[in-house]
Amino acid sequence: MSHSRRTRLLHAGRGFDPASQDIGPVNPPVERASTILTRDVQTLETKAPYGTKGTQTTRALQQALLELEPAAECLLYPSGLAAIAAVMLGLVKAGDHVLLSDALYYPTRRLMNTLLARFGVSASYFDPCASTDAIIAMMQDNTSVLFVESPGSDSLEVLDVPALAQAARERGIVAVMDNTWSAGWLFDAMAAGCQVSIQALTKYQAGHADVLMGAALCDASVAERVRAATLMLGQCVSSDEAWLVLRGLRTLPLRLKQAGQTALKVAQWLNARKEVQAVLHPALPSCHGHEFFRRDFSGASSLFSFVLQPRFDEAAARRFVDSLELFGIGASWGGYESLVMLKHMPSLRSTPWPFAPWLVRLSIGLEEADDLIADLEAGLARLRG
Ligand SMILES: *Cc1c(COP(=O)(O)O)cnc(C)c1O
Repeated sequence: MSHSRRTRLLHAGRGFDPASQDIGPVNPPVERASTILTRDVQTLETKAPYGTKGTQTTRALQQALLELEPAAECLLYPSGLAAIAAVMLGLVKAGDHVLLSDALYYPTRRLMNTLLARFGVSASYFDPCASTDAIIAMMQDNTSVLFVESPGSDSLEVLDVPALAQAARERGIVAVMDNTWSAGWLFDAMAAGCQVSIQALTKYQAGHADVLMGAALCDASVAERVRAATLMLGQCVSSDEAWLVLRGLRTLPLRLKQAGQTALKVAQWLNARKEVQAVLHPALPSCHGHEFFRRDFSGASSLFSFVLQPRFDEAAARRFVDSLELFGIGASWGGYESLVMLKHMPSLRSTPWPFAPWLVRLSIGLEEADDLIADLEAGLARLRG
């Protein structure tokens, strides 16, 4: 019998197997191990088990993640950024070029422009508002990786990922997507044609602001290369933390649905405010690439941004953010609690920024929408000093 994705997510990687056990707990144990013992020398030689290659607990998490985005392989990392770095190091060599979206998680840009530049890998950034054809035209003969994030970090532009992934594939370019915004649940990057989907599990999957972890889901054409790089770099995760992410995953669809609904309500409220120049939320028709969002995503998560009217200066923007009571000021996102960040967008990208410079990013948690709106309303009232 084939079950829905949500049901499969709840049943994958569980502890008890009635086919081989009489009794057992619902959840897998936390298996702490550096050394894994073997019966004899030959088994050690053929299987070469070691803690860095995983435990029962990390394998259970991998199984569950493969229900989100079916792939040939799921690799785990101590953070989302570590996943991005290992994937890049597994896929590029000196002389290669990487084409990336300019609406990028900033540390990915820093990795490209410093560490990988030092190893002779060049990078260029496409405007996330450019047409799909214009983006494809930027692919070069030596481009080995197309790196997309959709919606874009902070600015939320949505890309035509299936078309870009196909164009990359036709040119022998590996399409990698940072699929953190959708948590791998609202958008299936692998089904859209990407060869690698990266998720910062730190965000919605862990969901409680208490774990850092990342995953790279790879199709068969690149799994070997990424797995080898991961082993060589010594990347692995602890069973305790894998267990926490697995616990978070069981309620991921419910939390995302609730937080997503609240976020849309808050976004619509902000959209009607005269202090706000633009609300950047993929489910709003004004969002760049809204048509791709409607075609490709099964819903919106709860991270979005808005831009204050240009008449409000930096001091006013800081006063607004500092005055909020329910929104914690902090990086990362996707937990049960709401967060706010203030960003100066022209310093974060190389292509033109079409709005006023100060952007407020909100990660909406599981609080009541009306409480969050009242807090924002009080904050907007303080904009004038
Ligand atoms: C947070 C984030 C990451 C990195 O995750 P960490 O676990 O914090 O390293 C990568 N990509 C995106 C889009 C993110 O928001």
